[in-house]
Amino acid sequence: MEAIRWQSKMACSRAHLDLLRAGLGALRRSPTTPEALTRRRSCRLQGLLRYAGRFSPYYRELFDRRRLNPADIRREDELTQLPVLERQTARERSGEIMSTEIALHACLQRKTHGTTGMPFAVPTLPLEQWLEAILWARCYLDAGFRPWQRQVKIALPCRIPSWPYLVQHLGLFRRTYVDATRPVSEKIRELKKAMPAALVCWASTLDEITTELERADSFLNIPRVFSTSSMLWPSVRERAARRLKARVTDVYGSIETGPVAWECEQQRGFHVHSDQVIVELLDEAGRPARAGRVVCTVLWRRAFPLIRYALDDMAEWADTPCPCGRPYPLLRNLTGRAADLVELPDGTRISSVAVRAVVFEKPGIEQYQFVQETRTRFLLRIVAGSAFTAEVEGALLDEFRRQFSGALELQIVKVRDLRGTPGAKFSPMVTLK
Ligand SMILES: [Zn+2]
Repeated sequence: MEAIRWQSKMACSRAHLDLLRAGLGALRRSPTTPEALTRRRSCRLQGLLRYAGRFSPYYRELFDRRRLNPADIRREDELTQLPVLERQTARERSGEIMSTEIALHACLQRKTHGTTGMPFAVPTLPLEQWLEAILWARCYLDAGFRPWQRQVKIALPCRIPSWPYLVQHLGLFRRTYVDATRPVSEKIRELKKAMPAALVCWASTLDEITTELERADSFLNIPRVFSTSSMLWPSVRERAARRLKARVTDVYGSIETGPVAWECEQQRGFHVHSDQVIVELLDEAGRPARAGRVVCTVLWRRAFPLIRYALDDMAEWADTPCPCGRPYPLLRNLTGRAADLVELPDGTRISSVAVRAVVFEKPGIEQYQFVQETRTRFLLRIVAGSAFTAEVEGALLDEFRRQFSGALELQIVKVRDLRGTPGAKFSPMVTLK
């Protein structure tokens, strides 16, 4: 019986095809008025809640316990009837959150290494990855990038796809990938070779590249840069304008949510594309506030519905509308995105993600934290599960030695718990700073 039920699970559903159609439609015409945006958002929200209430045991139980019908929640301000989903709960109860309609083996495991130091895999259907790609395309086009132009994306090796996407075969959104863990000189060499119209990378990588260009008194010509994942400091933006002749668009998002908000040419803040992801800001008591913790409801996910999912960031709503006229609400003063640069013995600074990359994709690491003790010595604190064997530990140390040609030392310490003090932000990388 179980086998038959399992067989009947699908790789995608009718709901997904509708979403894809709507996504492509949104790429063609974005809502131009706040009313059109509200209508679209409310319609998508109801679709998501109906789906979650029917196919996700976690949400079904939640609706039942609160004696709610998914149809009772029609507007985003009515979402407060549901509790906030913390990352830890999402991780611990992922089996119940997952849609019973969808087979886990049909999903990609999109792993978030996050700022919490607590790896967590979000089951994502290939079709949902498409929906996310459509959102990214919307971001690129919004900043003036043209589909026939070429991009360079700097990414971790585990995130570099082995095959180009179909659209890239058709000559659209062509992309060259550069390994984020390679030395900065190599990254610059690749950029010179590719001469892309746009660069997509973390703010910390942009910092690394532009600092090196400044040191060598060298210039590149990359008109558009999309900066993600980490804090884009004004000095880095300025250096990118000078050294790359680039206009930098800061993009806010995460693996779980996809791109949530990005800047327009006015650079007054981040426009939340709330027909795809609803953002709420909550105060310490969990009440909606003008400034507070960022909580997201991802309208395009079905395999793993994320409703009122808490990110680790803080932000505030802008008081005045943006002069650009886009109907999307404006977020300001985003903080809490971890982006420390690690200073090496020779004085160069590299993105902390390059150091953290050695723990990615290693089995049995439930939580981790790097502590830089001196310029040459790192401590890696790990909450280890049973899959973290002596072989895994050996492989991790080997990889670290290879990565930094033996210039850095690493010591691994297993600990019982790594959770920080409540209210204080946990960082997976503690640098000398
Ligand atoms: Zn604007």
